[in-house]
Amino acid sequence: MTGMKAIRRFTVRTVVPGPIGALPRLATNLRWSWHLPTRRLFESLDPVLWEDARHDPLAMLAAISREQLNALAEDPEVVARVAEADRSLAVYLDEPRWYQSLGGDAPKTIAYFSPEFGISEVLPQYSGGLGILAGDHLKSASDLGVPLIGVGLLYQAGYFKQSLSRDAWQQETYPLLDPDALPLTLLREDDGAPVQISLPLPEGRVLRAHIWRADVGRVPLLLLDSNVAENDAAARGVTDRLYGGGGDHRLTQELLLGMGGVKALRVHARLTGTPAPEVFHTNEGHAGFLGIERIRELMDPALTANPLSWAEALTAGRASTVFTTHTPVPAGIDRFPRSMIEHFFAGELAPGVPVHEILALGAENYDGGNPDVFNMAVMGLRLAQRANGVAKLHGVVSREMFSGLWPGFDHDDVPITSVTNGVHVPTWVDPQLAQLAREKFGADVLDGPDWSKVYEVGDSDVWALRRRLRSALVADARRRLRSSWKKRGAADAQLAWTDSALDPDVLTIGFARRVPTYKRLTLMLRDPARLKALLLHPENPIQLVIAGKSHPADDAGKKMIQELVQFTDDPEVRHRIVFLPNYDIAMARTLFPGCDVWLNNPLRPLEACGTSGMKAAINGSLNLSVMDGWWDELYDGENGWAIPTANQGTSDEERDDIESAALYELLETQVAPRFYGDLVSDGAGAAGPSHPGSGGLPSHWISMIKHTISKLGPAVSAERMVQEYVQRLYQPAAAAGRAAQDGDYAATKEFSAWIGRVRSEWGGIRVEHVESHGLADEPQIGQALAVRANVFLGGLTPDDVAVSVSYGRVGDSDELSDTRTLALDSAVDLGGGRHQFVAELVIDRSGSFGYGVQVLPRHASLANSAELGLIVTA
Ligand SMILES: *Cc1c(COP(=O)(O)O)cnc(C)c1O
Repeated sequence: MTGMKAIRRFTVRTVVPGPIGALPRLATNLRWSWHLPTRRLFESLDPVLWEDARHDPLAMLAAISREQLNALAEDPEVVARVAEADRSLAVYLDEPRWYQSLGGDAPKTIAYFSPEFGISEVLPQYSGGLGILAGDHLKSASDLGVPLIGVGLLYQAGYFKQSLSRDAWQQETYPLLDPDALPLTLLREDDGAPVQISLPLPEGRVLRAHIWRADVGRVPLLLLDSNVAENDAAARGVTDRLYGGGGDHRLTQELLLGMGGVKALRVHARLTGTPAPEVFHTNEGHAGFLGIERIRELMDPALTANPLSWAEALTAGRASTVFTTHTPVPAGIDRFPRSMIEHFFAGELAPGVPVHEILALGAENYDGGNPDVFNMAVMGLRLAQRANGVAKLHGVVSREMFSGLWPGFDHDDVPITSVTNGVHVPTWVDPQLAQLAREKFGADVLDGPDWSKVYEVGDSDVWALRRRLRSALVADARRRLRSSWKKRGAADAQLAWTDSALDPDVLTIGFARRVPTYKRLTLMLRDPARLKALLLHPENPIQLVIAGKSHPADDAGKKMIQELVQFTDDPEVRHRIVFLPNYDIAMARTLFPGCDVWLNNPLRPLEACGTSGMKAAINGSLNLSVMDGWWDELYDGENGWAIPTANQGTSDEERDDIESAALYELLETQVAPRFYGDLVSDGAGAAGPSHPGSGGLPSHWISMIKHTISKLGPAVSAERMVQEYVQRLYQPAAAAGRAAQDGDYAATKEFSAWIGRVRSEWGGIRVEHVESHGLADEPQIGQALAVRANVFLGGLTPDDVAVSVSYGRVGDSDELSDTRTLALDSAVDLGGGRHQFVAELVIDRSGSFGYGVQVLPRHASLANSAELGLIVTA
């Protein structure tokens, strides 16, 4: 019956004979995706099948015949290698690692929520950087022994697959995934029934979900799947695809992720005995409703003998929550109509939790805010006592962007710190590079690598490796190009040219990323003639490999792709510039290492961090980038090039003109000549380029490669990032969370009551009088200045506040710069709510000098004195 659809699909898992019975376990734990020996083991079982299965161990096991499995099980060498891989996995899963050396008070479990996870191409549950970062976070946590549990959604179609139409318009397809064929295990109750969590929706509807577990090394990842028979059609479709619909659909996805995610964690803890999470990390705003679910739990009289009030539950929840913001692009932030939130919470979703309080959490009640929307990032910040951006510059930008939530504070004092992103080295270092490192420095060189060892590798070895990596990219690009053209309707006979597209000896520049406007995919086309001249340069040509998906709803992005692809279609240049459809992890792993230069030209400062350039760098590619994201803090003059940015205030058009001209200029005068071996004197006065193919070595370029690897390697590794999260955010959050729970939440109740009191009294606080004395008519460095401030505190006591003096240089308009802060001590109770505070400050610089006095709340449970958004200045 053609046209009939199966109502249920089954994937029958292969039964593997005992002697090689560990294979399914090895194929199911995603450690294989970064553990080269395990991948090699699968490949060696049947190299042809391995290719057919697109390097997916489970797909390979499903396709392998029973006879072949029996033959493998009788081969002692295979049996020994399987046993060795199994032993290696068992040791990896169990042995003490970095985290285990931290001591007893490190959090026992940390929950990490994200709307997407990019772990491997076989689990396509990501759209771009946010998801890949989440995947790298889990993998590095696993390597470090951090007891993380990931929480996300299982999308039936993941993100879309991209192809091109004849006229270069992006086509999207959504192949359905069969969870049974993925490296996932369905969570079941002890009686074998699938675990089901449910959320009550308006109009008496119920949203149910199953929970799948992916094993990412030591880290479990729980993925909620609403494709459950008992659900109505709309509820089944909630997890249909990543960032699919808008409005209701998106909101139910996020309710399921946040609130359902907490429920999933509770079931998982019950079934496995894993300790409950002590820290909740929200990777971007989408999962923010996890905070509401935790508040609901604390307020629920059915769960606790002493339910907390809203204010107390909020205080307790915030203590152990970390929020990471990922974008300075307003369109990248989720906002819902306020009325929609109201509608969903009016029912049984969070009984007992006051809806107006939930609404207040996401309210944009600051200058420039929209009163009708509910902002998920704003809620994220209000639900977390600790928050961060993802690069130093992004920290600065975020403090400014969200400063409306902390009125009266200098942007510098807005309590959002930054942890610069990193990349999981074993995933992203090319196997050929890893192989070279192992041969030279031993099998475990990549565990905690000493990156400066690159200086012990000879220039010619480095250069030969770079050519191999470039050649691998060229081969992969030709294959993809041919397949893309066939989809675009070309016949084989027309495609001979693709076999010689790109050249393994030409300077190769890569550009691949999602295609939102700010990333400026088409900046390089600003002056097509100039680009053409660079591509076709007689001595120093460049070639470009480009990839990227546009969001399906973003026609502007699709137009940019079309414009670019149409340029690459020109027979005059098509051997030097190619667009490869369907950018994903599999393509990325060949692309980053194969490029000599990684190009990034976003509109500064809209790239929060960017990680593709980091992945290129650890493979010895040099970055050529606008000073944005991570590059702004890690460019050092010898690890690549900085594309200068236009001054603020120029129009978009002028800006693109200026920055594209700078890009062409750099390529022509710096990058290409250096790659082809700057003009070197041969002693006889003659000079000539030593082309890579001609045996000469571009020594300056190679020294930049070594410098890049040795300096950037440790800085961009995700181990560094995860260690920072642990030490700077998770550990303090766990300590705060424990303190909040002590004595049946006694400290929380006290802190929450204190916050209420401080808020209600704050408006009355005045700095009534400030005086200073002790200086001669002509003050000199080293002289002491006695400062006294009389402050009216009303019903608060000096213990409730921190009074301080900020001093520094005074500018023309009286603003302070180079400021330092000195605490004033409470000295005299002047009666009637008035107190005198004093300090002695020493003049430590010459020139104009001034000071101001400020009052902030003070309490041991505050993570930051700006946290409550309360300040009085004089
Ligand atoms: C690293 C990576 C990204 C993110 O790159 P950015 O530099 O952050 O834009 C997106 N997609 C894939 C497949 C990646 O590997």
